[in-house]
Amino acid sequence: MGKQMKVEAVATWAPLKAVDRCDTGECRGRTVVRVHYGINSLDFCGHHFTQVEGKALANDVEPSDVLGSPTHIQDERQRILAEEDKREGVG
Ligand SMILES: [Zn+2]
Repeated sequence: MGKQMKVEAVATWAPLKAVDRCDTGECRGRTVVRVHYGINSLDFCGHHFTQVEGKALANDVEPSDVLGSPTHIQDERQRILAEEDKREGVG
């Protein structure tokens, strides 16, 4: 039963961790999406990412909001939600 999945990691982005927190200041929710702007990045909880998502994906963010146009959207919502389901699941 030692089923081993070999994951060929193409991603150069470090996976989001449970300790990563939303960068939206007053929020402090768990990061589920990291938006990269070159060497910089901003972390968002699900709630706040939905607020910026439209703009970010359209490469149409306001310079005053963030650090320029996103170079990569690291969206781990599905993985993290699945993890939390498991942890808080029945029982
Ligand atoms: Zn947030």
